[in-house]
Amino acid sequence: MHDGTGMKKTSDKVSNRARRRFLQGSIALVYDFDGTLTPKPMQNYTVLAKLGISADEFWNEVNTEVARTGGDHMLTYMRLIVDRLRSSDEHITRDDLRRLATDIEYFPGVETWFERVNRYVELRTRGKVRVRHYLISAGLREILEGVSIRHQFRRIYASQYFFDKYDRATFPTIVINDTAKTQYLFRINKGIEDPRESINDHMPEQQRPIPFGHMLYIGDGMTDVPCMTVAKKNGGFAVAVYQPKLTKSLTTCQELARADRIDYFAPADYREGRTLERRVQVILDVMIARILFERERFALRRELD
Ligand SMILES: [Mg+2]
Repeated sequence: MHDGTGMKKTSDKVSNRARRRFLQGSIALVYDFDGTLTPKPMQNYTVLAKLGISADEFWNEVNTEVARTGGDHMLTYMRLIVDRLRSSDEHITRDDLRRLATDIEYFPGVETWFERVNRYVELRTRGKVRVRHYLISAGLREILEGVSIRHQFRRIYASQYFFDKYDRATFPTIVINDTAKTQYLFRINKGIEDPRESINDHMPEQQRPIPFGHMLYIGDGMTDVPCMTVAKKNGGFAVAVYQPKLTKSLTTCQELARADRIDYFAPADYREGRTLERRVQVILDVMIARILFERERFALRRELD
């Protein structure tokens, strides 16, 4: 916990640095996981597969239970997974969850996407602008810690279980639902990325390392609307992806675009030269131009000092 003086000193330090050096030279790409980077929810490839549970039946049960109790969708699925683990002969530890994550399948091109984005920005700006990738998922952190693309992310925010002394998941310790996701956009915006630190202190816009205008949120549907709205209303960008085989997924994107809740949508195909890459590059170009413009203004102001 921070006492008031500690926070003040930190913010003084930041503002002194902000005067001397341009601190807003990074772009943030923030991703949802299930349905955005992978076709199916991560539980289907991992814990449900391991327990031999039919994914369709499980998610139907979650939906029925939510309709019956009016409970939170995330808490309900997390509780039902604990129930299933308890009644199963299989003991699944945290390490098991991490290992199972290697079975996750991605949309085409996902695994090389991050390097391509980084290279694009580096070449375009001769290294003056950097890219950070973040993941905010309602899924399980224990699984995401084992995914092959984890090193691409500066931070992974996700729901989390408490594991007891027998390494059994017993209770949720962090639950990230649609609206809770937006908190993490502000963490990225303010550079207060550690969830143990308070996010609510005031911070002037010019001290925030990632202004919303340098932020792009990529999601796949209605559960991403709060994040898309926060990003866009604050001057940032939002893109939705859809699965061409699922008509519902396309109509959701069309609705989001008609309501101006997203800037673009594209098939969830991350391969080189596809629509998604092309559209994201258009947004990257706008963000790059903003940063270079602001950098130059910053240099000018320093000359005036
Ligand atoms: Mg999703």
